[in-house]
Amino acid sequence: MKIIRTPREMQQAAQALRRAGKTIGFVPTMGFLHEGHLSLIRIARERADVLVASIFVNPTQFGPGEDLDAYPRDFERDERLCCEEGVDLLFYPTPETMYLEGHSTWVEEEALSGMLCGAARPVHFRGVCTVVTKLLNLVLPDFMVLGEKDAQQLRVLRRMVRNLNIPVDVVSGPTVREADGLAMSSRNKYLSPEERKEAICLFQGLGKAKEQFSAGERSADVLTASVRDVIEKTSGTIDYIEVVDDENLQRIKVLEKPALIALAVKFSGVRLIDNAVLGK
Ligand code: AMP
Repeated sequence: MKIIRTPREMQQAAQALRRAGKTIGFVPTMGFLHEGHLSLIRIARERADVLVASIFVNPTQFGPGEDLDAYPRDFERDERLCCEEGVDLLFYPTPETMYLEGHSTWVEEEALSGMLCGAARPVHFRGVCTVVTKLLNLVLPDFMVLGEKDAQQLRVLRRMVRNLNIPVDVVSGPTVREADGLAMSSRNKYLSPEERKEAICLFQGLGKAKEQFSAGERSADVLTASVRDVIEKTSGTIDYIEVVDDENLQRIKVLEKPALIALAVKFSGVRLIDNAVLGK
């Protein structure tokens, strides 16, 4: 496995691979890798001649007061895991080389980015769209693999790729969970032992909503209320629990076609998200 640290070197390597007719698969991450990330790397490994992963804690997707500085990092461990999983090129740039002085160009998706996580994190998806566009221009992949855990991010990036005619296939991988159901996340390590136990409430709440949906319940209010009941028994603070149209992320009252139930809950400073698709 080769580690590439500059955008220029990454792009040159990718151009050479494309000229040689290789299929490039790409998994973008912010590092501190867990089984969720590794599952995406394995999906990409199946289909790619050359597998590229990136580790970049992108400063522009964090708002003021968010956890940019505290975001967990362990490059040596990440490097070892990537190597074990058969990553060929590990792109590990610095913020200074990714955002040269005077950076003033942004990619903004306007239809799906303002709700759910975007409501509490107004610059988040602009940062995500900008960095992913830059990464795609550097890695030149045939396909990239994203996790369904970040449901809104997946939909925003699919839309961006379609709207901007970016020549990349977007492949998604299912959410990988701990044994008790908590969705794996780099941020889980900041939960206290007590909060870690309580944090399964996101998964339990979604499970209850899924059961009710299977039993015929179609009211979004009823479904969100029962998730709320589960969360409110814990010390978590609800940021949002919403039922939205699976495609356009608009809030819905009655579930008539595939819907996404998504939530964000904070434990002390740690913001956790999870989701389930209903009716697909
Ligand atoms: P992050 O490092 O959190 O930016 O995540 C990098 C990629 O891994 C994104 O596409 C995420 O959706 C995906 N991901 C994060 N957690 C999980 C998980 N538990 N299961 C599957 N994919 C995940």
